[in-house]
Amino acid sequence: MKAAVLNQIPGELEIEEITIDKPARSEVLIRTVNAGLCHSDLHFMTGDWQMPPPLLMGHEAAGVVEAVGEDVSYVKPGDHVITCLSGFCGTCRYCTNGQLSLCPNKRKLQERSQPSLVNHEGTAVTPFTGLGAFAEQMLVHEHFVVKIREDMPLDKAALIGCGVTTGLGAVFRTAKVEPGSTVCVIGAGGIGMSAVQGARIAGAGKIIAVDLSDTKLEQAQALGATHVVNASEGDPVGAVQEITGGGVDYSFEAIGLKATAEQSFNMLAPGGTATVIGMIPINQNLEIPGYQLFLMEKKLQGSMMGSNQFRTDMPRFIDLYLDGRLKLDEMVSQHIHLEQVNEGYDAMKQGDTMRTIIDFE
Ligand SMILES: [Zn+2]
Ligand SMILES: [Zn+2]
Repeated sequence: MKAAVLNQIPGELEIEEITIDKPARSEVLIRTVNAGLCHSDLHFMTGDWQMPPPLLMGHEAAGVVEAVGEDVSYVKPGDHVITCLSGFCGTCRYCTNGQLSLCPNKRKLQERSQPSLVNHEGTAVTPFTGLGAFAEQMLVHEHFVVKIREDMPLDKAALIGCGVTTGLGAVFRTAKVEPGSTVCVIGAGGIGMSAVQGARIAGAGKIIAVDLSDTKLEQAQALGATHVVNASEGDPVGAVQEITGGGVDYSFEAIGLKATAEQSFNMLAPGGTATVIGMIPINQNLEIPGYQLFLMEKKLQGSMMGSNQFRTDMPRFIDLYLDGRLKLDEMVSQHIHLEQVNEGYDAMKQGDTMRTIIDFE
Protein backbone atom coordinates (compact mmCIF):
# COMPACT_ATOMS: atom_id res chain seq x y z
CA MET A 1 0.00 0.00 0.00
CA LYS A 2 1.00 3.63 -0.48
CA ALA A 3 2.25 5.39 2.67
CA ALA A 4 4.00 8.61 3.79
CA VAL A 5 7.05 7.53 5.78
CA LEU A 6 9.53 9.56 7.84
CA ASN A 7 12.90 7.88 7.18
CA GLN A 8 15.16 10.44 8.88
CA ILE A 9 14.75 13.07 11.58
CA PRO A 10 14.65 15.92 10.78
CA GLY A 11 13.21 15.21 7.35
CA GLU A 12 10.29 15.27 4.98
CA LEU A 13 7.84 12.44 4.40
CA GLU A 14 8.56 10.05 1.54
CA ILE A 15 5.76 8.36 -0.39
CA GLU A 16 6.58 4.68 -0.73
CA GLU A 17 5.04 1.23 -1.04
CA ILE A 18 5.01 -0.71 2.23
CA THR A 19 3.29 -3.96 3.17
CA ILE A 20 0.73 -4.26 5.94
CA ASP A 21 -0.04 -7.48 7.81
CA LYS A 22 -3.45 -9.14 8.29
CA PRO A 23 -5.31 -8.41 11.55
CA ALA A 24 -4.27 -10.63 14.45
CA ARG A 25 -6.60 -11.42 17.39
CA SER A 26 -7.78 -8.02 18.68
CA GLU A 27 -6.81 -6.00 15.63
CA VAL A 28 -8.86 -4.13 13.06
CA LEU A 29 -7.80 -3.46 9.46
CA ILE A 30 -9.21 -0.12 8.30
CA ARG A 31 -9.42 1.36 4.80
CA THR A 32 -8.33 4.96 5.42
CA VAL A 33 -10.75 7.39 3.77
CA ASN A 34 -9.52 10.70 5.20
CA ALA A 35 -6.63 11.85 7.40
CA GLY A 36 -5.99 15.29 8.86
CA LEU A 37 -2.63 17.05 9.16
CA CYS A 38 -2.02 17.71 12.86
CA HIS A 39 0.82 19.77 14.28
CA SER A 40 2.12 16.91 16.45
CA ASP A 41 3.41 15.05 13.38
CA LEU A 42 5.43 18.12 12.47
CA HIS A 43 7.16 18.10 15.89
CA PHE A 44 8.70 14.75 14.91
CA MET A 45 9.49 15.78 11.32
CA THR A 46 11.41 18.83 12.59
CA GLY A 47 13.12 16.86 15.39
CA ASP A 48 11.63 18.89 18.27
CA TRP A 49 10.45 15.53 19.52
CA GLN A 50 12.26 12.28 18.71
CA MET A 51 11.40 8.66 17.93
CA PRO A 52 13.52 6.14 15.98
CA PRO A 53 12.61 6.10 12.24
CA PRO A 54 11.27 4.75 9.94
CA LEU A 55 7.90 6.05 11.12
CA LEU A 56 4.56 5.98 9.35
CA MET A 57 3.17 9.36 10.38
CA GLY A 58 -0.42 10.57 10.72
CA HIS A 59 -2.76 10.08 13.66
CA GLU A 60 -6.04 11.87 12.84
CA ALA A 61 -8.20 9.68 10.62
CA ALA A 62 -11.50 8.10 9.74
CA GLY A 63 -12.28 5.13 7.54
CA VAL A 64 -14.17 1.90 6.99
CA VAL A 65 -13.41 -1.45 8.63
CA GLU A 66 -12.17 -4.00 6.09
CA ALA A 67 -11.34 -7.00 8.27
CA VAL A 68 -11.13 -7.93 11.96
CA GLY A 69 -9.15 -10.41 14.06
CA GLU A 70 -10.84 -13.44 15.66
CA ASP A 71 -11.27 -11.78 19.10
CA VAL A 72 -12.87 -8.54 17.85
CA SER A 73 -16.56 -8.16 18.68
CA TYR A 74 -16.88 -4.34 18.84
CA VAL A 75 -16.76 -3.68 15.07
CA LYS A 76 -17.34 -5.66 11.85
CA PRO A 77 -16.34 -5.12 8.20
CA GLY A 78 -18.22 -2.16 6.70
CA ASP A 79 -18.47 -0.19 9.98
CA HIS A 80 -17.40 3.45 9.85
CA VAL A 81 -14.81 4.33 12.48
CA ILE A 82 -12.61 7.11 13.81
CA THR A 83 -9.22 6.13 15.20
CA CYS A 84 -7.85 7.71 18.38
CA LEU A 85 -4.31 7.57 19.74
CA SER A 86 -5.71 7.22 23.29
CA GLY A 87 -5.83 3.42 23.10
CA PHE A 88 -6.97 2.05 26.46
CA CYS A 89 -6.27 -1.27 28.16
CA GLY A 90 -9.54 -1.08 30.10
CA THR A 91 -8.19 -2.61 33.30
CA CYS A 92 -5.53 -0.28 34.78
CA ARG A 93 -6.25 2.25 37.55
CA TYR A 94 -6.53 5.12 35.03
CA CYS A 95 -8.89 3.30 32.67
CA THR A 96 -11.15 2.09 35.48
CA ASN A 97 -11.18 5.66 36.85
CA GLY A 98 -12.33 7.07 33.49
CA GLN A 99 -8.94 8.65 32.64
CA LEU A 100 -8.40 6.70 29.43
CA SER A 101 -6.03 9.25 27.90
CA LEU A 102 -3.55 8.53 30.73
CA CYS A 103 -3.50 4.73 30.26
CA PRO A 104 0.16 3.60 30.49
CA ASN A 105 -0.50 0.32 28.67
CA LYS A 106 -1.25 1.48 25.11
CA ARG A 107 2.16 0.30 23.91
CA LYS A 108 1.43 -3.18 25.25
CA LEU A 109 -1.75 -3.30 23.16
CA GLN A 110 0.40 -2.79 20.05
CA GLU A 111 2.75 -5.71 20.77
CA ARG A 112 2.60 -8.49 18.17
CA SER A 113 4.71 -11.46 17.06
CA GLN A 114 5.85 -9.77 13.82
CA PRO A 115 5.88 -6.14 12.64
CA SER A 116 2.58 -4.85 11.26
CA LEU A 117 4.35 -2.71 8.63
CA VAL A 118 7.45 -3.56 6.56
CA ASN A 119 9.15 -1.42 3.89
CA HIS A 120 10.69 -2.61 0.60
CA GLU A 121 14.04 -3.23 2.32
CA GLY A 122 12.40 -5.55 4.83
CA THR A 123 12.72 -3.05 7.70
CA ALA A 124 9.90 -2.70 10.22
CA VAL A 125 8.10 0.65 10.01
CA THR A 126 6.59 1.95 13.27
CA PRO A 127 3.04 3.33 13.05
CA PHE A 128 3.16 6.73 14.82
CA THR A 129 1.05 6.70 18.02
CA GLY A 130 -0.03 3.16 17.18
CA LEU A 131 -2.06 4.43 14.22
CA GLY A 132 0.00 5.45 11.15
CA ALA A 133 -2.80 7.28 9.34
CA PHE A 134 -0.92 8.56 6.28
CA ALA A 135 -1.45 5.28 4.43
CA GLU A 136 -4.19 3.59 2.44
CA GLN A 137 -4.82 1.16 5.30
CA MET A 138 -4.35 1.13 9.08
CA LEU A 139 -3.91 -1.92 11.31
CA VAL A 140 -4.81 -1.03 14.90
CA HIS A 141 -5.92 -2.64 18.15
CA GLU A 142 -9.71 -2.41 18.54
CA HIS A 143 -9.25 -0.22 21.63
CA PHE A 144 -7.97 2.54 19.31
CA VAL A 145 -11.25 2.89 17.37
CA VAL A 146 -14.78 4.19 17.90
CA LYS A 147 -17.72 3.17 15.72
CA ILE A 148 -19.68 6.14 14.33
CA ARG A 149 -22.98 6.92 12.57
CA GLU A 150 -22.82 6.32 8.84
CA ASP A 151 -24.45 9.64 7.90
CA MET A 152 -21.35 11.45 9.25
CA PRO A 153 -19.04 12.61 6.40
CA LEU A 154 -15.71 10.89 6.97
CA ASP A 155 -13.59 13.96 6.17
CA LYS A 156 -15.17 15.88 9.06
CA ALA A 157 -15.06 12.74 11.20
CA ALA A 158 -11.28 12.58 10.70
CA LEU A 159 -10.88 16.00 12.34
CA ILE A 160 -12.57 14.64 15.46
CA GLY A 161 -9.83 11.97 15.65
CA CYS A 162 -7.36 14.38 17.27
CA GLY A 163 -7.59 18.18 17.01
CA VAL A 164 -11.29 18.66 17.65
CA THR A 165 -11.41 16.17 20.52
CA THR A 166 -8.28 17.71 22.05
CA GLY A 167 -9.74 21.24 21.98
CA LEU A 168 -13.31 20.40 23.00
CA GLY A 169 -12.14 17.90 25.62
CA ALA A 170 -9.80 20.45 27.21
CA VAL A 171 -12.83 22.72 27.73
CA PHE A 172 -15.46 20.11 28.68
CA ARG A 173 -13.43 17.47 30.52
CA THR A 174 -10.09 18.93 31.67
CA ALA A 175 -11.17 22.46 32.69
CA LYS A 176 -14.96 21.93 32.98
CA VAL A 177 -15.82 25.48 31.85
CA GLU A 178 -19.05 26.80 33.41
CA PRO A 179 -21.78 28.83 31.67
CA GLY A 180 -21.11 32.54 31.89
CA SER A 181 -17.43 32.22 32.79
CA THR A 182 -14.70 34.10 30.91
CA VAL A 183 -12.35 32.21 28.61
CA CYS A 184 -9.21 33.04 26.64
CA VAL A 185 -7.73 30.76 23.98
CA ILE A 186 -4.13 31.45 22.86
CA GLY A 187 -3.44 30.14 19.35
CA ALA A 188 -6.17 29.99 16.69
CA GLY A 189 -5.11 26.83 14.83
CA GLY A 190 -7.22 23.69 14.64
CA ILE A 191 -6.99 22.89 18.35
CA GLY A 192 -7.44 26.50 19.50
CA MET A 193 -10.48 26.93 17.23
CA SER A 194 -11.94 23.75 18.72
CA ALA A 195 -11.40 25.17 22.22
CA VAL A 196 -13.14 28.41 21.13
CA GLN A 197 -16.08 26.34 19.90
CA GLY A 198 -16.08 24.28 23.09
CA ALA A 199 -16.28 27.50 25.13
CA ARG A 200 -19.21 28.67 22.98
CA ILE A 201 -21.04 25.35 23.33
CA ALA A 202 -20.35 25.33 27.10
CA GLY A 203 -22.03 28.74 27.33
CA ALA A 204 -19.00 30.81 28.31
CA GLY A 205 -19.58 34.58 28.57
CA LYS A 206 -16.60 36.40 27.10
CA ILE A 207 -14.50 34.23 24.75
CA ILE A 208 -11.23 35.92 23.79
CA ALA A 209 -9.04 34.52 21.00
CA VAL A 210 -5.36 35.51 20.84
CA ASP A 211 -3.24 34.98 17.71
CA LEU A 212 -0.74 36.79 15.47
CA SER A 213 -2.88 36.53 12.33
CA ASP A 214 -5.86 38.83 11.70
CA THR A 215 -7.26 36.27 9.24
CA LYS A 216 -7.30 33.57 11.91
CA LEU A 217 -8.80 35.96 14.43
CA GLU A 218 -11.63 36.72 12.00
CA GLN A 219 -12.22 32.98 11.64
CA ALA A 220 -12.21 32.66 15.44
CA GLN A 221 -14.98 35.27 15.63
CA ALA A 222 -17.02 33.29 13.12
CA LEU A 223 -16.63 30.20 15.34
CA GLY A 224 -17.60 31.87 18.62
CA ALA A 225 -14.96 34.29 19.89
CA THR A 226 -16.58 37.42 21.32
CA HIS A 227 -13.28 39.35 21.46
CA VAL A 228 -9.95 39.02 19.66
CA VAL A 229 -6.43 40.17 20.51
CA ASN A 230 -3.63 40.34 17.95
CA ALA A 231 -0.54 39.60 20.06
CA SER A 232 1.72 41.30 17.51
CA GLU A 233 0.19 44.65 18.52
CA GLY A 234 1.21 44.58 22.18
CA ASP A 235 1.09 42.59 25.41
CA PRO A 236 -1.79 40.07 25.18
CA VAL A 237 -1.91 39.65 28.98
CA GLY A 238 -2.67 43.35 29.49
CA ALA A 239 -5.24 43.32 26.69
CA VAL A 240 -7.06 40.31 28.16
CA GLN A 241 -7.03 41.84 31.64
CA GLU A 242 -8.51 45.03 30.23
CA ILE A 243 -11.31 43.23 28.34
CA THR A 244 -12.26 41.18 31.40
CA GLY A 245 -11.60 43.77 34.10
CA GLY A 246 -8.91 41.74 35.86
CA GLY A 247 -8.32 38.41 34.11
CA VAL A 248 -10.12 35.31 32.83
CA ASP A 249 -11.58 32.36 34.71
CA TYR A 250 -10.19 29.88 32.18
CA SER A 251 -7.32 30.16 29.73
CA PHE A 252 -6.17 27.60 27.17
CA GLU A 253 -2.74 27.49 25.55
CA ALA A 254 -2.98 25.79 22.15
CA ILE A 255 0.47 26.42 20.67
CA GLY A 256 3.10 24.66 22.79
CA LEU A 257 5.52 27.47 23.67
CA LYS A 258 7.03 28.51 27.00
CA ALA A 259 6.13 32.19 26.47
CA THR A 260 2.48 31.56 25.61
CA ALA A 261 2.08 28.97 28.39
CA GLU A 262 3.34 31.59 30.87
CA GLN A 263 0.96 34.17 29.37
CA SER A 264 -1.94 31.74 29.84
CA PHE A 265 -1.17 31.70 33.57
CA ASN A 266 -0.47 35.42 33.91
CA MET A 267 -3.83 36.41 32.38
CA LEU A 268 -5.89 34.52 34.99
CA ALA A 269 -8.24 36.17 37.47
CA PRO A 270 -7.78 35.02 41.09
CA GLY A 271 -9.11 31.45 41.34
CA GLY A 272 -8.67 30.94 37.59
CA THR A 273 -7.34 27.88 35.81
CA ALA A 274 -4.84 27.78 32.93
CA THR A 275 -4.87 24.62 30.80
CA VAL A 276 -1.84 23.97 28.59
CA ILE A 277 -2.82 21.84 25.60
CA GLY A 278 0.21 22.50 23.35
CA MET A 279 3.28 20.25 23.39
CA ILE A 280 5.98 22.29 25.18
CA PRO A 281 9.36 21.14 23.77
CA ILE A 282 11.16 18.58 25.92
CA ASN A 283 13.68 20.13 28.39
CA GLN A 284 11.84 23.47 28.56
CA ASN A 285 10.68 24.67 31.98
CA LEU A 286 8.04 27.28 32.69
CA GLU A 287 8.51 30.22 35.05
CA ILE A 288 5.47 31.51 36.88
CA PRO A 289 5.19 33.81 39.91
CA GLY A 290 4.81 31.56 42.97
CA TYR A 291 2.83 34.01 45.13
CA GLN A 292 0.17 34.29 42.40
CA LEU A 293 -0.15 30.53 42.11
CA PHE A 294 -0.58 29.89 45.82
CA LEU A 295 -2.10 33.01 47.41
CA MET A 296 -4.47 33.75 44.56
CA GLU A 297 -5.55 30.10 44.21
CA LYS A 298 -4.65 29.99 40.54
CA LYS A 299 -4.19 26.65 38.84
CA LEU A 300 -1.94 25.52 36.01
CA GLN A 301 -2.72 22.14 34.48
CA GLY A 302 -2.05 20.02 31.42
CA SER A 303 -4.53 18.34 29.13
CA MET A 304 -3.63 15.11 27.34
CA MET A 305 -5.80 14.63 24.24
CA GLY A 306 -8.60 16.58 25.93
CA SER A 307 -8.75 14.12 28.88
CA ASN A 308 -10.94 12.16 26.48
CA GLN A 309 -13.18 9.17 26.91
CA PHE A 310 -13.28 8.95 23.16
CA ARG A 311 -15.85 6.20 22.68
CA THR A 312 -18.30 8.45 24.58
CA ASP A 313 -17.02 11.84 23.42
CA MET A 314 -16.57 11.37 19.66
CA PRO A 315 -20.15 10.21 18.92
CA ARG A 316 -21.38 13.20 20.97
CA PHE A 317 -19.21 15.59 18.95
CA ILE A 318 -20.62 14.06 15.74
CA ASP A 319 -24.17 14.71 17.00
CA LEU A 320 -23.20 18.31 17.79
CA TYR A 321 -21.86 18.71 14.23
CA LEU A 322 -24.89 17.14 12.56
CA ASP A 323 -27.14 19.37 14.74
CA GLY A 324 -25.24 22.43 13.45
CA ARG A 325 -23.76 23.41 16.81
CA LEU A 326 -20.16 22.28 16.18
CA LYS A 327 -18.78 23.86 13.02
CA LEU A 328 -16.32 21.62 11.20
CA ASP A 329 -16.79 22.61 7.54
CA GLU A 330 -15.36 26.03 8.41
CA MET A 331 -12.24 24.41 9.87
CA VAL A 332 -11.19 22.67 6.65
CA SER A 333 -8.74 24.86 4.72
CA GLN A 334 -7.97 22.43 1.88
CA HIS A 335 -8.24 18.86 0.63
CA ILE A 336 -5.09 17.24 -0.81
CA HIS A 337 -3.83 13.85 -2.01
CA LEU A 338 -1.25 11.84 -0.07
CA GLU A 339 1.49 12.87 -2.55
CA GLN A 340 0.99 16.53 -1.49
CA VAL A 341 1.47 15.86 2.23
CA ASN A 342 4.76 17.81 2.50
CA GLU A 343 3.19 20.84 0.80
CA GLY A 344 0.36 20.54 3.31
CA TYR A 345 2.85 20.76 6.17
CA ASP A 346 4.64 23.68 4.47
CA ALA A 347 1.32 25.55 4.47
CA MET A 348 0.93 24.74 8.17
CA LYS A 349 4.43 26.12 8.89
CA GLN A 350 3.49 29.34 7.06
CA GLY A 351 0.47 29.61 9.35
CA ASP A 352 -1.88 29.66 6.35
CA THR A 353 -4.10 26.71 7.25
CA MET A 354 -6.49 25.70 10.00
CA ARG A 355 -6.79 22.07 8.88
CA THR A 356 -5.64 20.24 5.73
CA ILE A 357 -7.34 16.93 4.92
CA ILE A 358 -5.94 14.09 2.81
CA ASP A 359 -8.51 12.32 0.60
CA PHE A 360 -7.58 8.70 -0.10
CA GLU A 361 -10.44 8.05 -2.53
ZN1 LIG B 1 -2.90 15.46 16.78
ZN1 LIG C 1 -5.42 1.33 30.98
